[in-house]
Amino acid sequence: MDYPGNLIVVAAPSGAGKSSLVKALLELDAQIQPSVSHTTRAPRGQEKHGREYFFVPDADFDAMVAANGFVEWAHVHGRRYGTSKKAIEDRIAQGADVILEIDFQGAMQIKKTFANAVLIFILPPSWEELRSRLERRGEDAPEVIELRLKNAAIEMAQARNFDFVIINELFDRAVFDLKTIVHAQRLKYLAQVRARADTFKSLHIL
Ligand code: GDP
Ligand code: ADP
Ligand code: 5GP
Repeated sequence: MDYPGNLIVVAAPSGAGKSSLVKALLELDAQIQPSVSHTTRAPRGQEKHGREYFFVPDADFDAMVAANGFVEWAHVHGRRYGTSKKAIEDRIAQGADVILEIDFQGAMQIKKTFANAVLIFILPPSWEELRSRLERRGEDAPEVIELRLKNAAIEMAQARNFDFVIINELFDRAVFDLKTIVHAQRLKYLAQVRARADTFKSLHIL
């Protein structure tokens, strides 16, 4: 499938800093819109329905799967998460860049459907730092933190299947890295042809 907008997919083990990095990027770049996923997990802390996620009961999620409403969905940490078609298709068709914070299984599904999507994996600087960020965030119960750390080993082994890797050690450096990748994505030949078709035509190269 081909669209004028770019799809940017970010995955990371829980606690690596993915949500903080994406939030910082969105504040710097008004051309990027977040995809809001559906999930069957309960809201945490300050999370609001329709902002971080659409929090839905299992039955509603089942109905959306049956109606073919997701471009991808996956089981993550014992819950289900999915990107609805609505969350991305209208926006990229209109030329916006859309960023998805999803797990590695979802990222692989997106790459199959949208070959031009760019896949970015965020790594923490160390295991010790990953654990301490999850503890410092203070929003997950101890057993949930243990499950997320156990899953982190499996998730990080998937970094090899991504286009880019960012090590989130110094936060500002990692934001800069993320911005740089998005910028480079917009300069790819096909992205430029999509965004600047008139220029290509006037130069007689289309
Ligand atoms: P976090 O890991 O602390 O950010 O916790 P979340 O509960 O926000 O996310 C749980 C997992 O689900 C993460 O691996 C996300 O990347 C993943 N995830 C979130 N939204 C989606 C989605 O729409 N599709 C897929 N496949 N995974 C998602
Ligand atoms: P994720 O979305 O990947 O689960 P978060 O963005 O919620 O991760 O970050 C986990 C915790 O680590 C948060 O408390 C966040 O403020 C903190 N954090 C993120 N990046 C850094 C960094 N570079 N250095 C120190 N702490 C960080
Ligand atoms: P959390 O529950 O901490 O918000 O997210 C846990 C994991 O689920 C994260 O790795 C997050 O990226 C992933 N996730 C969130 N939304 C989706 C989604 O729509 N699809 C998939 N596949 N994973 C998601």
